[in-house]
Amino acid sequence: MSANPYRQLPGLDALLSRPALRELIARFGRDSVRDEARSLLDDARAAIRSGQIPPSQDELVVRLQDRVRNAFAPSLLPVINATGVIVHTNLGRALLSDAAKRAMMEVASSYSNLEYDLAAGKRGSRYVHAEALLTRLTGAEAALVVNNNAAAVNLTLRTLAAGQEVIISRGELVEIGGGFRIPDILAQSSAVLVEVGTTNRTRLVDYENAITEHTGLLLKVHQSNYRIIGFTEEVGISALAGLARRKSPPIPVLHDLGSGTLLDTRPYGLAYEPRVQDSVAAGADVVTFSGDKLLGGPQAGVILGRKAIIDRLKRQPLTRAFRVDKTTLAALQATLMAYLRGTATEEIPAWRMISASAEALAQRARTWADALTRQGIRVTLAPGGSAVGGGSLPGQTLPTTLLLLRTEHPHRLLAALRAHTPPIIARVEEDAVAFDPRTVLPEQETILLAAIPSCLHGTVSPAK
Ligand SMILES: *Cc1c(COP(=O)(O)O)cnc(C)c1O
Repeated sequence: MSANPYRQLPGLDALLSRPALRELIARFGRDSVRDEARSLLDDARAAIRSGQIPPSQDELVVRLQDRVRNAFAPSLLPVINATGVIVHTNLGRALLSDAAKRAMMEVASSYSNLEYDLAAGKRGSRYVHAEALLTRLTGAEAALVVNNNAAAVNLTLRTLAAGQEVIISRGELVEIGGGFRIPDILAQSSAVLVEVGTTNRTRLVDYENAITEHTGLLLKVHQSNYRIIGFTEEVGISALAGLARRKSPPIPVLHDLGSGTLLDTRPYGLAYEPRVQDSVAAGADVVTFSGDKLLGGPQAGVILGRKAIIDRLKRQPLTRAFRVDKTTLAALQATLMAYLRGTATEEIPAWRMISASAEALAQRARTWADALTRQGIRVTLAPGGSAVGGGSLPGQTLPTTLLLLRTEHPHRLLAALRAHTPPIIARVEEDAVAFDPRTVLPEQETILLAAIPSCLHGTVSPAK
């Protein structure tokens, strides 16, 4: 027998003093590296007890680096979105404009007048900040910004309709995803759901017949991620508002728009997606939407409406729990300024992607194909469709050119791309791995084109 194998393991301090670990300790801190090293050495001793040969010191260093990184490296990372879904909820929704990023940075690095009235020299309200821009752009009397649209809907329902009946069409009892189901949101708000009409057809008279002295609100919800085709009928906001106003006292109408676009989607060959200002003009008393869908701003919930209603919302104690962060307000203001200037389609990434021309996308896909062909990778180009996403325009696509890579194991290539740094998210279309240039940022192209060959070779060579 040779010398005691346990003796071949370094002591804890000897291991930690290896120069190769200096960087790891600087990044993750001595205490966390020490704890992982201790349990790594415990594991190595257990392996020796079960008859394995002891790892070399170099091997221990590599294992320790892997362990520490797996345990403590930040898990939220930038990724490359090659799916062609522009507002992708799983991939962080809207990207911010340069102006919005700058505004966030400025307000994060400096004191601000977040809750300070500069003219009066005393305490002010954070809820005033984006209000003038929002009312100017939408025609609403007043506005309130909260954390997200789920909070906006919840707050509005609780304030206007707690303990009362809320009438909604059966065709609008939707689940948005991520735990947002209209019937559950109503229950949480202690409102009583009154369903009217049928899944495909609801008429004004259905609402009219359902109104009682207990009715607190008429609710219209954008169907978002699904669409009924064929024999359908729904009641628009102006008809609903007309009905609600004939009642005494008038019943408020809440329109949850979801994606909340300020721009018209039709010039891009898409169907009409209800615009915020159209809903306000049609007479909705309250309109809610997300900041990070088609508005192209930060995560936020925007509530627009009549001043008396918005004032009540501002006073409601729950508003404090949903309050919006200063960096969010800064980004929202900067995003809205682009709409005010009329430069949103140039400045806001989501709208730059929506308005990208089919020729420009085809040209980018051809450049990608040439670069990969030069590296000996066989790819083809094919017409395809990009989706707007964000619960808007379901089933509708924008024409694009896809780069297709056929491989025996497309799902293995997808997994290798996801394991890349930065991770790359693509999809499978007709058994090929498909990359859509629409959502890949120009500055990410070099990384993408280098990653594809290396990920492909990793999946076709025999696993080691
Ligand atoms: C997306 C959406 C919501 C939820 O908005 P969040 O900002 O994700 O909280 C609510 N209602 C509709 C109609 C939506 O499309």
